Amino acid sequence: MSGNRGVVYLGNGKVEIQKIDYPKMQDPRGRKIEHAVILRVVSTNICGSDQHMVRGRTTAQTGLVLGHEITGEVIEKGSDVENLQIGDLVSVPFNVACGRCRSCKEMHTGVCLSVNPARPGGAYGYVDMGDWTGGQAEYAMVPYADFNLLKLPDRDRAMEKIRDLTCLSDILPTGYHGAVTAGVGRAARCTSPVPVRSVWRLPLRLACWARRW
Ligand SMILES: [Zn+2]
Ligand SMILES: [Zn+2]
Repeated sequence: MSGNRGVVYLGNGKVEIQKIDYPKMQDPRGRKIEHAVILRVVSTNICGSDQHMVRGRTTAQTGLVLGHEITGEVIEKGSDVENLQIGDLVSVPFNVACGRCRSCKEMHTGVCLSVNPARPGGAYGYVDMGDWTGGQAEYAMVPYADFNLLKLPDRDRAMEKIRDLTCLSDILPTGYHGAVTAGVGRAARCTSPVPVRSVWRLPLRLACWARRW
């Protein structure tokens, strides 16, 4: 079995790449699961929300492996995984969701009722989000893989743009959703009259493109 390395939170303002356990096919409570895959991480982002933990603004515990924006290659799969194959290149949404509970069936996967005993909603590598190990690592486990993973259909083409596609795991759809629900649409200007933080420019442009759809 391979080793693993990940970005570990060590306290206010301090992280370090350390040796960590290779992922197991089990949930954070130690229950063996067969609906999971193990990914070789191809690319991952540092999110703005990681900064809340790294800068000591949360109750994140020392030893937390960070990273909820993961793109990877399937290298192992459980016996209940039906729609993914070894070698598939996949984008991982930052929320962990079961696809089976009432929230998930209503498309509110950010408040899945099954993946965090403490409260609705789970995420990888994030304080109070169910203790799922983060993906700023060489290998990561994704549960409910058939539901959670977006397969990138053309592997070679995807690898040419993999740094762009890595934004699919959080900021692009999150920003898009935020822009649309904020009312950016047919009647909105396609350029902001005021300077927009660079992180929002892509989703705003995308929402403007949606006018042509
Ligand atoms: Zn994020
Ligand atoms: Zn759910």
